[in-house]
Amino acid sequence: MKIKRQKQAKKTTSFYKYNFGFREPYQILIDGTFCQAALKNKIQIKEQMPKYLMGEIQLCTTSCALKELETLGNDLYGAKIILQRFQVRRCPHFKVPVSASACLLSMLGDNNPHHYYVATQDFSVTQGLKKIPGVPLLYIILNTIVLDKPSQASLDHVQAVQLGELVSPAQQQSIRTLKEEQGIAPKDGVRRGRKRKRKQSNPNPLSCLKKKKKKQGVPTPPLKKTEDEGKKKRSRRTKQKTEGGDGMDAPIAANT
Ligand SMILES: [Zn+2]
Repeated sequence: MKIKRQKQAKKTTSFYKYNFGFREPYQILIDGTFCQAALKNKIQIKEQMPKYLMGEIQLCTTSCALKELETLGNDLYGAKIILQRFQVRRCPHFKVPVSASACLLSMLGDNNPHHYYVATQDFSVTQGLKKIPGVPLLYIILNTIVLDKPSQASLDHVQAVQLGELVSPAQQQSIRTLKEEQGIAPKDGVRRGRKRKRKQSNPNPLSCLKKKKKKQGVPTPPLKKTEDEGKKKRSRRTKQKTEGGDGMDAPIAANT
């Protein structure tokens, strides 16, 4: 049974790894309900979680979750002690704390950009996070931690990506790096080549017309003259300099 559980967890973690860009250390957002369940079932979160997920983890929570435990009184004192040990992540409720469930869901946003795993026993949180694609859920049942199978929202998102309807940012990056590594990126080159050809064919007739007009109308000859004069002056100066250099020989010629 243990091996089967571990296999399922590995399958699920790799699902999030490849489809949503999850990386170690896995960020695990925990609330008081999970700590309470861990305490009841004598589960050492810090020891068992990395073994179960087979990777490095970072346990974290929010100040709202901590404050909620404080207000709930002595029954949850043990859970509070456990939760206090974890890193406190900034939430947008610094001035006015909200319920732990509302806070955790706000940390996930629309697409869980910080790649949080959520560890909770709170039904409202689990129901809420299942609507957001790419949020792994951890809960405790029958004395063990369980990583829930990907939600329908996550599966739908992945399917949409595979059908080409969506391209996840993680995939966009990996596609770019793969192209660079293999020296492919010919699609861009071909596109550029086509564009260049069009550019070459278009400007030629236009530039010809403009030149003819200028010659016929003769509205801007003074500009050209000044340009020519400038060029002539430059050439004269250089000539003078060279003459000066040659001038050392010149007087000898004059004397003879
Ligand atoms: Zn908060």
